[in-house]
Amino acid sequence: MANTIQTVTGPCRPADLGLTLMHEHLIIGWPGWESDTAAAPFDRREARKLCVDRMHELKALGVATLLDPCPIDLGRDVELAAEVAQASGVRIVCATGLYKEESGAAPYYKFRGAFTDSVNEMAEIFIKEISEGIGSTGIKAGVIKVATGPHQVTAYERNVIIAAARAHKATGAPITTHTDEGTMGREQLDILAEEQVDPRRVVIGHSCGSADLRYHTDLLDRGAYLGFDRFGLELLHPDRLRLAALIGLLGIGFERQIVLSHDTVWCWRGRALALPVETLAPNWDPRHVLLHIVPALRDAGVSQAKIDAMLIDNPRRYFSGAAR
Ligand SMILES: [Zn+2]
Repeated sequence: MANTIQTVTGPCRPADLGLTLMHEHLIIGWPGWESDTAAAPFDRREARKLCVDRMHELKALGVATLLDPCPIDLGRDVELAAEVAQASGVRIVCATGLYKEESGAAPYYKFRGAFTDSVNEMAEIFIKEISEGIGSTGIKAGVIKVATGPHQVTAYERNVIIAAARAHKATGAPITTHTDEGTMGREQLDILAEEQVDPRRVVIGHSCGSADLRYHTDLLDRGAYLGFDRFGLELLHPDRLRLAALIGLLGIGFERQIVLSHDTVWCWRGRALALPVETLAPNWDPRHVLLHIVPALRDAGVSQAKIDAMLIDNPRRYFSGAAR
């Protein structure tokens, strides 16, 4: 069991984590953003201000910690995260790891893999980022991110998952995943199980993208955490289906294995989005769970103890490896 959890501003005791949002993004750079040389230059001061303002809003609602699981290859900026955590007083845990094949650094590692053991190289990178720090920043990753695209796990994605398993075993840092369309959670757990990873140290992310309760209970029965971590992203899956599944799973006693979040993105590298996200997804806001989903759960008869389990106890147990 880990006595300390690495945050971007230094280690923290598990008991001090407090209310934790388990999947939000300060900044994303969709791979290829560097090629948009006609975009306005990135305004780091503006980004920092926007993130600090958001953090103050979250802090006012009781949020103490936020996990930003941005992998290495999706525009990650851990120094920005450290500045925002410092200025706002909300802790941030950052990630090492790599994104899915179709949108990540796959070309580099596939090229390397033609000549050398790229799985070994990936594991080495993840371990260094967790134990020594990211680049020369001294900031350590507290979690390992892996990802799969929809309906299949590619050979590359499998390699990343194996490297993540090895880094987990070497460091004790937990694993969090990206899934698409509520698929491939089982396959992710299969690969991790082959590498002897305890599912209790794994969040299968975006599991709320499935409306299939058998998918959910299969993953839960194996001991993994489920991320109900895209509340407000109605464009991908309706909130009322996420909520119906969540209320059902809480009703049959799975509150100790579910974590909540929104997968919001606060700043984008490259050109600003052409579509107004505010009108298309008005609830895709990192306050939505606390302002709307928690009251909806209470209306459905979910106890405060179960709500606290998802928002406070589960993140602490997941990060520290403490028994359920
Ligand atoms: Zn995400």
